[in-house]
Amino acid sequence: MADTVTAETGTADMGRDFIRDIIQADLDAGRAASVVTRFPPEPNGFLHLGHAKSICLNFGVAREFGGKCHLRFDDTNPVKEEQLFIDSIQRDVRWLGFDWGENLYYASDYFEQLYAWAEHLIETGHAYVDDTPPEAMRAQRGTLTEPGQNSPFRYRTPAENLDLFRRMRAGEFPNGACVLRAKIDMTSGNMNLRDPVLYRILHAHHPRTGDTWCIYPTYDFAHGQSDAIEGITHSVCTLEFEDHKPLYDWLIGHLPVPAQPKQYEFARLNVSYTVLSKRILTTLVRDGHVSGWDDPRMPTLAGFRRRGVPPAALREFVSRVGVARANSVVDVAMLDSAIRDTLNPVAPRRMAVLRPLKLIIENYPEGQTETLEAINHPDHPALGVRPITFGREIYVEQDDFMENPPKKFYRLSPGKEVRLRYGYFVTCREIIKDDAGQVTALRCTYDPATKGGNAPDGRKVQATLHWVAAADAVEAEVRLYTHLFARPDPGADGDVMADINPASLDVLTGCLVEPALASAATDTTVQFERTGYFVADPDGIRERPVFNRTVGLRDTWAKVQATGR
Ligand code: ATP
Ligand code: MG
Repeated sequence: MADTVTAETGTADMGRDFIRDIIQADLDAGRAASVVTRFPPEPNGFLHLGHAKSICLNFGVAREFGGKCHLRFDDTNPVKEEQLFIDSIQRDVRWLGFDWGENLYYASDYFEQLYAWAEHLIETGHAYVDDTPPEAMRAQRGTLTEPGQNSPFRYRTPAENLDLFRRMRAGEFPNGACVLRAKIDMTSGNMNLRDPVLYRILHAHHPRTGDTWCIYPTYDFAHGQSDAIEGITHSVCTLEFEDHKPLYDWLIGHLPVPAQPKQYEFARLNVSYTVLSKRILTTLVRDGHVSGWDDPRMPTLAGFRRRGVPPAALREFVSRVGVARANSVVDVAMLDSAIRDTLNPVAPRRMAVLRPLKLIIENYPEGQTETLEAINHPDHPALGVRPITFGREIYVEQDDFMENPPKKFYRLSPGKEVRLRYGYFVTCREIIKDDAGQVTALRCTYDPATKGGNAPDGRKVQATLHWVAAADAVEAEVRLYTHLFARPDPGADGDVMADINPASLDVLTGCLVEPALASAATDTTVQFERTGYFVADPDGIRERPVFNRTVGLRDTWAKVQATGR
C-alpha cells in the first residue's frame, strides 16, 4: 500500500504500528498460519469516524498480510438494534473502500452454539443462575477498593442450574427475574471477573431471530466465542476492553471452542470539537439537533459523505493518526488537512460567488457577451477546459471590495485595478449605494487589451478575483458548516448538550454559481475557486442547487487580519 510518512504529522506509516508488529511476529513464529480479523459493530447507530479507524485497521491489516476480515454484527441486544443500522453499516464500510466478501456474520447466528456452551459451563460448575434482584446484585459486586460478596444462589447444584437455565430459555420468567452468571471470583481485583453476567432475560423481538429467543448473551459471552467460531486470529479492539481481556481468556479457556483467538487493544480515536459516542450521536438525531444521521455536521461516515468528504480523505486521516496504545485527542484541524490534501489534487475548479456584489462594466457594450475559457484543474490539463460567459454585468464577492481599504488589501477598492480570473483587468470607478448607504454595485471599466489576464504593457495587478456573469449565473443555496460543538472538549463540564454550537450551520441564499454547477453530481466535490471545497446536496434541484461546504481553503486574508502580517 502507498501509505507514506507524512512530513506534516511525523507519524510513521501504517506498516509500523504495534498491532502490525504483533501480527508479523505471530506469522514469523508460526503462531498463526494466516491473519483473520473482524470488525464487530453493534447495529444500534450509524458508523462514525472512530469506527473508520477500527475498519481501516482491521480490514487494512487483513489486506496487507493476505488474510481476511469479517464483518460481524454484534446483534446481542434486540432492544436497540434495527435493520436500518445493519444496512447503513454495510453501505458505509463499502463506501470507505473495504469489502468483507463472503464473510458477513451475525453474533445471532451463533445463539444456539452459545447456548450450548452456557450449558457446558453450568455442567462443569462454572456458571449459575442467580435470582438476586439487580439492585442487590450491584451492591454485592463491591467496589474497586472493596471485594464483592458471594450471592446466596452461587451454591446451586449444576442440575438445579441447568433446570433453571432451560426454564429461562423456555420463557417461564419475566425480564430481570434472574440471570446466568459465570462463577469466577467475587474478590478479584478485576471487576469483570466478579461473576459476570452471561445471559439475561429479554422478552424482545430480534431483527433476525424474531421471537425464537427470550434470553440473550451479553457482549462478553458472545464476543470471544464468536471470534473462536470464526477462527479470528487477532481480535483487535479499543483500550476500554483491556479489563475484559482476562474474562475473554477465561471463557476461551473454560469452553470447548474450536480456536484460541487473542485480544489486542489500541487507543480509540478522539477528535477535538467532536463527539464519537453512539449514545450521544443517537440523542442528537432523536432530539432534532441535527437533520439526521447523515447531517453534514455529524462525524458519521454518512455525514462525511454528504458533506463531500471523499473516503480516501478519511483513510488518509486515519493513516496519519496511526495506531497507538496511549489515548489522546487528535486536533480536528488534522482532519481538515487530510480532506484538503486529498481534494486539492483532484477536485475540479469552478467559480461561485457566495455573497454577490454587482459590477457594471461601463465600457463593455450593453447586450453583448463573449465566451472565455476556464481550466478545470491547474495541475491536470487532461481535465480540460470549459467555456464561461463574460458580459457587462458580473458579480464578485462582497468581501473582495472595501471602500476604505487598509494597507495590504489588494482587492477592489476605488481606483484600484484587479484581474478577473480567466478574464480581463477591471478598475473600480464609482460606488453605487442605496438610501441606507449600503454598497449595491460598483461601476468599473475593463481593459480589452488584457484578455487572458495579462497586460501588453506589462503592468501588474496584485489580486485575481473569481466572479460569475449575470447573463447565465445560477442561483444557489450554500450551507456553511462549522463544528457541531463549541468547545474542543464537548461535555467536559458534564453536559455535552450544553456545548452544542448554536452557529454550526450558516445557510446562504442568493448565492450565484456558474452554470456548469447547476448539474453538479452529489458525489463529486469541487473547489469553488478561492472559497473552499463544496459538494451538491441531494436537497437541491436543478434550478436551485444546494451546496454543502466540505472544508474551507486556508484563508490568507484571515491570517493577515489575525497576525498583522
Ligand atoms: P460507541 O462508543 O460509539 O457506542 P461502540 O464501541 O459501542 O462505540 P461498536 O459498534 O461496538 O460501538 O464498535 C465497533 C468497533 O468499533 C469496536 O471494535 C470498537 O472498539 C470500535 N470503535 C468504536 N469507537 C471507536 C473509536 N472512537 N476509535 C476506534 N475504534 C472505535
Ligand atoms: Mg460496543
